[in-house]
Amino acid sequence: MASVIKLESNVEESISYNPATGVEVGRVAQTSAEDVQAAVDRSRETFHKWKNTTFRERRALIMKAREVVLSEMDEIAHLISAESGKPFGEAIAMEIAPVLDLMQYFARRAERILKPRRIGIGLYATMGRYSKIVYHPLGVVGIIPAWNYPFSIPLGEAAMALMAGNSVVIKPSELTPIIGLKIGEVFAKAGAPENLVQVISGDGRTGAALVDAAPDKIMFTGSVATGKKIAAAAAKNLTSVVLELGGKDPMIVFDDANLELAAGAAVWGAFCNAGQSCSSVERLYAQEGVAEKLTKLIVDKTRELKQGTGDREDVSIGAMSSERQLKIVEDHVNDFREAGATIEIGGKRNEALDGLFYEPTVITGATNDMRPMQEETFGPTLPIATFKTEEEAIALANDSEFGLTASVWTRDYAKGKRVAGKIEAGSVCVNEVLYTHGIGQTPWGGFKNSGRGRTHGREGLMELVQPQHIHVNRFALLPDAWWMPYSATAVETFRGIATKFASGSLAKTTTLIPQLWKRIRELRKK
Ligand code: NAD
Repeated sequence: MASVIKLESNVEESISYNPATGVEVGRVAQTSAEDVQAAVDRSRETFHKWKNTTFRERRALIMKAREVVLSEMDEIAHLISAESGKPFGEAIAMEIAPVLDLMQYFARRAERILKPRRIGIGLYATMGRYSKIVYHPLGVVGIIPAWNYPFSIPLGEAAMALMAGNSVVIKPSELTPIIGLKIGEVFAKAGAPENLVQVISGDGRTGAALVDAAPDKIMFTGSVATGKKIAAAAAKNLTSVVLELGGKDPMIVFDDANLELAAGAAVWGAFCNAGQSCSSVERLYAQEGVAEKLTKLIVDKTRELKQGTGDREDVSIGAMSSERQLKIVEDHVNDFREAGATIEIGGKRNEALDGLFYEPTVITGATNDMRPMQEETFGPTLPIATFKTEEEAIALANDSEFGLTASVWTRDYAKGKRVAGKIEAGSVCVNEVLYTHGIGQTPWGGFKNSGRGRTHGREGLMELVQPQHIHVNRFALLPDAWWMPYSATAVETFRGIATKFASGSLAKTTTLIPQLWKRIRELRKK
């Protein structure tokens, strides 16, 4: 929940509320487009100093920031809970713990990942040449996150960008601006140089101004619709973008799966963060023989879940983050009802609570032709459909514009891996669900409309640098056979290069030597 009020003629202030209670959490002024540009300009100045720091110096900053987060862990978790509605224990488990792990990993590992490396260049090496790749930082990295993991996603991306030698400007979601400011405070307390990490505030207009201010990279997390707008706007300055977008993630349960475990995973995967995770289980496909038993286990486990304000330790499901999001859930559940699906449990707002609470909802009889099986719901709903064969399960899972994550449940690991390899998604788990964003060591990103590019892992760090190829000829005594002027001898040599040298075969290339000498002698006479 957030509302915008006019302070003066041209300054707007946004009020952030706790979606579980309606109590105000804090206020921030919307950063104007001019101030956004000034922030990016300051950031670029700081970048020119920061890019010259050693990995040791960068590591010291990130490890100090980690210490700040650790020392304020409960306070930060309560703030995340207050502004987003999630249980504060979940804020520790799903935001603070993973980002602390990511920070220590990249603080220690970035230097090794970004170490200059020699690469094999095949037969060119026989001509005395070698190639080295070195990695340069990009400059200013603009981070525009969503509201659902408002602390861990921008903080993790900022830590990676800084380790790679970049400076950072973060534009938090308008639904979670105070947590965004907290990230800036963490780096300030850790002793970050001035303007190395800046946090600006505001809604999509501020985000658009950040894109227009031409940073050197945009790391965006949010909806497909906004992702497309950002890609179009970024193209004007050829700013490269990483887009982490929506999902409609399938969970496939085969009849040989451990059903008790699969049911627990489905409940957590669908309902943690009140279902507002990009990698939430949004479609469950159960093999026909076990569908009934699995559904009963899921419904029984759902019935046990306590819903309430995020400050209580025994609460598993908190509030949704906005009325708009809750209305989408209502709309989708109504659609399921009208299309003939059955609501097994839930299916309505939680009237016993005042805030934005929707009951965890299990739906059976879902089929892929129902609209909410194709659109992202982003709420605490778990629609269950059935399948007969492995091929059918794969086809149903892939029948989506999205491809972020998926999970396959079976005791037959060979089958699990076989099916995983056929699913069109950026991460596929066998007998696990949802949590791989928490593994900072592995790449994160989507296939299809779930995104472009990667965050996390080696691949994610590579998004934050530009590789430079340094090519050295150690025997720079002779001209190259392909230089000018061209001649009949030259063309004959080029034929030989195409048919022999380009075959990659040393034996074939050796037969080319007389022709090469002829050509080089010709060039040296000129
Ligand atoms: P959103 O697209 O509405 O907003 C995301 C961010 O973009 C916000 O900070 C917003 O202020 C900003 N923004 C809006 N318009 C903009 C514009 N024109 N230019 C620049 N910035 C602009 O998304 P949301 O509702 O905050 O987040 C929910 C979505 O995020 C879901 O689809 C979810 O799946 C996705 N998500 C994806 C991942 C992932 O890793 N793939 C992770 C979390 C959330």
